[in-house]
Amino acid sequence: MIDSYGRNINYLRISVTDLCNLRCKYCMPEKGIKKACHDEILRFEEIEEIVKKFVSLGVNKIRITGGEPLVRTDIVTLIKRLSKLNGIDEIAMTTNGTLLKKHAKALKEAGLTRVNISLDTLNDEKYKTITKGGTLKDVLEGISEAKKVNLTPIKLNVVLIKDFNEDEIVDFVNLTKDEEIDVRFIELMPIGQVKQWSLNRYLSNETVLKKVPELIQIKSKDISSPAKYYRLPEGKGNIGLINPISCKFCSNCNRIRLTSDGKLKACLHSNNEIDIKGLIRDGKDITEVLYNIVKHKPKEHGLEDGEYIEREMTAIGG
Ligand code: SAM
Ligand code: SF4
Repeated sequence: MIDSYGRNINYLRISVTDLCNLRCKYCMPEKGIKKACHDEILRFEEIEEIVKKFVSLGVNKIRITGGEPLVRTDIVTLIKRLSKLNGIDEIAMTTNGTLLKKHAKALKEAGLTRVNISLDTLNDEKYKTITKGGTLKDVLEGISEAKKVNLTPIKLNVVLIKDFNEDEIVDFVNLTKDEEIDVRFIELMPIGQVKQWSLNRYLSNETVLKKVPELIQIKSKDISSPAKYYRLPEGKGNIGLINPISCKFCSNCNRIRLTSDGKLKACLHSNNEIDIKGLIRDGKDITEVLYNIVKHKPKEHGLEDGEYIEREMTAIGG
């Protein structure tokens, strides 16, 4: 469906839980988050119903995210249900990868197309520090398993953090030398209660281009992708730079977000949310509500002007 600014909105990102088995310093508050009671979270049949309506409005791509989507009980069943719907061309997942070793095969068999895996460092100790206790080996094994079962092309998401991982930029870039893997560097955003932690750790993605000047810009096949893509001269994989702050990509944004507690967000960086859980539970037809949300998707965010998002990233679905 085309919104009022001429963008084709065909991509729905669904957060299936706020919970996570890690505590990344820029994402999860120190004490974790309050566990929502069962009834506050959309049930699988409600998610399916919302997806069907969105498909009727032109959505054909879905991403499952969270919190950590693999901690939601029975997540494989949800993938199975969604993959059976007519009109869906792709179901991807964003995950921290720590539970992928266990679930990758079942996810692939259920119809998951591919995974984005978040990994901010290749060093054991630093991984433990940034995730407050995670084990790097779990992610690396998850990546291997995802490759083995063809949840590909795999994209690695690396949040750039000042005084933490700029010394690893070259190592991450080199992962694309011999493998068809995309490594995407993401600028740190001031979101949720961890805003204070993030504020002086922001590093522009220009840093990547300065550290690896041999990168060559290439055309992305997907114009709605938030990433600008580059390659090493002989590289097999791509380097993506996602610059929500230094260079916003709102004019190509094709996405709508559904939170696990049933709120629709037309823009990640806006505090506006529309509650549709109640409407669904009251048996109302939500088609018109969805139509209006898509139609009136904001033109752009105002993060660079100091706009600040209150909801945690884990609760929005990054
Ligand atoms: N738990 C899954 C994971 O880590 O991939 C999915 C949810 S997580 C919120 C999605 C993505 O958002 C991750 O790549 C994470 O690094 C990124 N993220 C979280 N908080 C962020 C922030 N403040 N700025 C930039 N990226 C952030
Ligand atoms: Fe969990 Fe993902 Fe947030 Fe890290 S970035 S705390 S893995 S939700």
